[in-house]
Amino acid sequence: MINCALGMSKPFDIELERLTDPAAYSEGRSTATGQRGTFFLETFGCQMNDHDSEKVAGLLLSRGYQQVETPEAASMILYNTCSIREKAAQKVFSRLGEFREKQSEGKVIGVLGCVAQQEGEDIFKRAPWVSLVCGSASYSKLPEMLAQLEAGNSRVTGLDTDTDDTFETPVTRRDNPWRAYLTIIEGCDKACSYCVVPFTRGPERSRASDSILKEVRQLAELGYSEVQLLGQTVNSYADPTSRRMRFSELLLAVAEVEGIRRVRFTTSHPSEFTPDIVEAIEREPKVCDHVHLPVQSGSSRVLRAMQRTYSREEYLEKIAMIRGAKRPIGITTDIIVGFPGETEAEFEETLSLLDEVQYDSMFSFKYSPRPNTPSLSMSDSISEEEKGRRLAALQDKQREIQALKHARMVGERFEVLVSGKSRRENQWTGYTTSHRMINFTSQERELLGTYVQVKVTGATPNGSVGEHVE
Ligand code: SAM
Ligand code: SF4
Repeated sequence: MINCALGMSKPFDIELERLTDPAAYSEGRSTATGQRGTFFLETFGCQMNDHDSEKVAGLLLSRGYQQVETPEAASMILYNTCSIREKAAQKVFSRLGEFREKQSEGKVIGVLGCVAQQEGEDIFKRAPWVSLVCGSASYSKLPEMLAQLEAGNSRVTGLDTDTDDTFETPVTRRDNPWRAYLTIIEGCDKACSYCVVPFTRGPERSRASDSILKEVRQLAELGYSEVQLLGQTVNSYADPTSRRMRFSELLLAVAEVEGIRRVRFTTSHPSEFTPDIVEAIEREPKVCDHVHLPVQSGSSRVLRAMQRTYSREEYLEKIAMIRGAKRPIGITTDIIVGFPGETEAEFEETLSLLDEVQYDSMFSFKYSPRPNTPSLSMSDSISEEEKGRRLAALQDKQREIQALKHARMVGERFEVLVSGKSRRENQWTGYTTSHRMINFTSQERELLGTYVQVKVTGATPNGSVGEHVE
């Protein structure tokens, strides 16, 4: 999707030009600009899904397909899905229902991602108008699968998870003109008892450090200044090459690439969050001072039942280590309320953890039973109403914490990467290195993609406001 409203910077235009120029990238295949060669790709889910979609789009563009902005204009509709919670998976099927009539217009409908992996061929039963089902571990086989469809096969699947492959493409079509996402580790070897990811994304596979660094250099040349390294447990990174680079060494090596000004990473697992990562942040200002460290619960008993591999006390030791860094590091988290058997007292422990840690921000969820997961056999004893009450109480507490944090920022100066322009005149949005969003005023005509100093002048319930200063 080309987002003209953002006023794309030059580097992004250059890349899109390259990507949409089939002559530059098509691999011997005829450039299909006719009915069959257009695709509409819709994404639902997390950053990893967004980035997978960028790679899928890059792969298809490199094969001569063209991306279009609406399902109506496409000969192929691809839906990259999320199944992390039941509601998400239900949403996928209702959206697929909306695509039903498109098949009778001769369009190919494909389901990608976690729901594809989880439901497999059952998707053909629930949505017979679908003809392609491909899980995230099989994306590299997409061109073959599309060729099978073109050859007349009416249904094709790619559902292997026992792969050593990481999904690398010669080109990735990126939606954000300043921040590039890079998956450095695919899949997950943890076994959190509530989570479908190990089933939908397969076992952990780390990408070779030289390949990561090569891509970062290319990105820098294209004008990207911020990269975000992605993985379900990004800090479990295990370099498969003989260099055996540690995750913290990789962070520093990425930061060294000329043109890169910010290096982010997400999501970190507390068990593998080691002191050398904090040392890398301390040593290299380009490594952003933000750690997303999901805790899931403040109760050690619940954490055990979740198979999270750390206790409340061990988690708090990690927090103390991060808080002890020479420069302040923002900490954010994920929390699940209403896990099977979570008592009121255990939920209170989660509330008290919020008081203790003082997170900068939080994603919070009601527990949702998922297929194949160990917690499915535990009685989901807490009513939806009670889960809702706990979620609201948790969010109220976090709102209070954030309001105080925002108030404390007033008067401080921050460097922000400007990533949005409001329709209101002279209003801009930027992110600090610790990923705090600041809406600010500036008389400048063009700031998108640049780094500027902003002084915080006020706090709103949701964030900070400020003004551009020299
Ligand atoms: N790998 C990351 C980690 O371990 O923190 C998280 C990946 S998951 C895509 C994002 C978040 O979804 C999790 O941190 C968890 O809070 C939430 N989540 C996962 N499974 C869930 C479930 N069955 N019910 C509710 N929330 C869930
Ligand atoms: Fe799921 Fe746990 Fe793996 Fe995160 S670490 S993806 S929550 S199994």
